[in-house]
Parts: sequence; structure tokens; C-alpha cells
Amino acid sequence: MKKPVKAGSVTIGGGAPVSVQSMTNTSTQDVQATLAQISRLSAMGADLVRVSVPDEESATAFQSIIKCAPVPIIADVHFDYKMALSAIESGAAKIRINPANIGSYGVSEIVRAAKERRIPIRIGVNQGSLKSEVTPVRLAGIALDSAAMLEDLGFFDIVIAVKSSDVRCTVEAYRELDARCHYPLHIGLTESGTPAFGQIKSSVAIGSLLLDGIGDTIRVSLSAKPEDEIVAGIRILRACGLRRDFVEVIACPTCARTNIDVEGIATELEEKTQNLHKRLKIAVMGCVVNGIGESKGADFGVCGGKMQSAIIKNKKIIATVPNDKIIAELLKLVEEC
Ligand code: SF4
Repeated sequence: MKKPVKAGSVTIGGGAPVSVQSMTNTSTQDVQATLAQISRLSAMGADLVRVSVPDEESATAFQSIIKCAPVPIIADVHFDYKMALSAIESGAAKIRINPANIGSYGVSEIVRAAKERRIPIRIGVNQGSLKSEVTPVRLAGIALDSAAMLEDLGFFDIVIAVKSSDVRCTVEAYRELDARCHYPLHIGLTESGTPAFGQIKSSVAIGSLLLDGIGDTIRVSLSAKPEDEIVAGIRILRACGLRRDFVEVIACPTCARTNIDVEGIATELEEKTQNLHKRLKIAVMGCVVNGIGESKGADFGVCGGKMQSAIIKNKKIIATVPNDKIIAELLKLVEEC
């Protein structure tokens, strides 16, 4: 188990639930737009949100953002340690730096301030910040060297991230880190790409690690809205069985026997139940031939017929309804739970 650290109200490591985070892409100087985005992310399930603090104007705005933000805010700082000091002074719950681009004096100042405020520091080493060949062992080694800089200053509330856009490299780097340190790990890819392929790459990388018990907080980095990152992150946690209080809709792959619009019904059920915190499974099956047997693992289900479909509850047919009433009937069962 990794050493727990606290970012505001959120514990990272120490067996705490794996948290989901994203990063704002508004201008930090635009306080209203940034706060609006943070509020949307929070409402969607973000546990933490990271905000860049690239210059003095942003540092001033950061102070106003922190005061009204509904979740703990992480300050992302590169190059200028004074921006980190300002963010810490404003109440940042955590600081993300790459010590290599801050310099030893700046790092020592940030550590001093973080110690005073008792907030953690995330060391983030990305493939793009390395000048020579990137290997998993090298990525992990650089991150651990950076952690050693902080340890030498008597600072141990550390979170580590090592990111590449390559799935195998990222997974191997985190496995190396996990074996060599007791600090909580922020996992994810960097520059993973478009939503379509980036989500698949991130699911493979983050999912592989989580299933091995590696990772304490996640970010699905996408070239997309931060809101999409939160949706993807929560889905990965659900798929890995790390979040169970939701309505899971399973559905058959369809074939020549399919009698109903399996995809349409499953999608609508998923959309209408996505915010419910109930641990339920609904099966949408296209026919009665295999559907009844295949839906046995679900709490409720439908097996499609030509005009009417069988509604299943606890492995038994409890009703037969016209096909245009399937969704309403299943939602009624969910509501009654
Ligand atoms: S449940 Fe029926 S319709 Fe769906 S894939 Fe199986 S056989 Fe085909």
C-alpha cells in the first residue's frame, strides 16, 4: 500500500478510492470561465481539478478560483517557482511540478512552502521533457531522482507520475516505479491523442495498471473537452470494478436473430441511468433464443421478440410488453429498487 497524502479533502494512496482528475483548458486569467468549467467537472464526478498557473496574472486569478472551487484544486507550474509559491499561498491543495525545469533553488523554496501548508507535491516526468532516448526504466529513474531531491529536503508527501504517449512504455514505467517506491502514483498517458483512439489507449494503459493494483489517482488525457476526460476516467474505474454504485447496461452483440433495436435501447437506458448510484445490471438481449440464458447474470433484462418482448427479473420472465414500452418498463424496475 502506498503512503497516503492529502490534497484538500481527497486522500491519494493508502488504500483510498482511486480518484479521478482532469485539467481545465480555459485561460486561468478568465476566472468565471475557469470556475464554470471546474463546477461542471465536479458535477460530473471529478474528485480533483488541475489548473495551470503560467504567469502573474494567472496567479492572481488562481486566488479567486480557489476561493469558490467546489473541489480541491491542484496548481500546475513550470519553470517559475514564484508561481508555485503564489499558488500555495492562495490555497492550492497540491502542486504539480517537474523539478528538472524548476531548478534546485526553486524546488527548495516550493518544498519549504508546501511543508508549511502541509500540501503534497506531484512530480510529473513526461516523455516530452527528456532530451535523450525514452525507456521505461529511464522515465522511472528520473522521477525517483526528482523524488530524492525532495527527500533530501525532508519532504515526503510526494505523488509521482511518469507519462509517455506509448502504452507499453507507460505501463512498464509505472510497474518499475511501483516496485521501487512507496509513493502514491498518478497514472495516465500523455498526449494520448484524439478522443476515439486516445480513450482506447488510455483504457488499456490505465486499466492494465489498475487491475494490477497500481495507481492511486488517474487522468485520461485527451485532445478533447476536460469533461470527456472525466466521463472516460469514471468509465475506466467502473470497468475495472473500482466503482460499483452505478447501473451497468450490458447488451448482446446482435445477429441475424435480433428482433429489437439493441443498441438504441441500451444507449438510452445508459443515458437515463448514468447518474444513479445504484448497483444494478440490466441486460438488453436481441432475442429469446439465447437472450434468456445470456441475461442470467443481470438483475433485469429484456429479450426481444418480433412485436413483444419478455421482461426478465431475477432470471424469470415477469411480463411481456410491446417493443415500444421496453425502456419505460425497465426504467420502472430500476426506479423501484
Ligand atoms: S442474444 Fe439473440 S440476438 Fe443477441 S446475439 Fe445472442 S442470439 Fe443474437
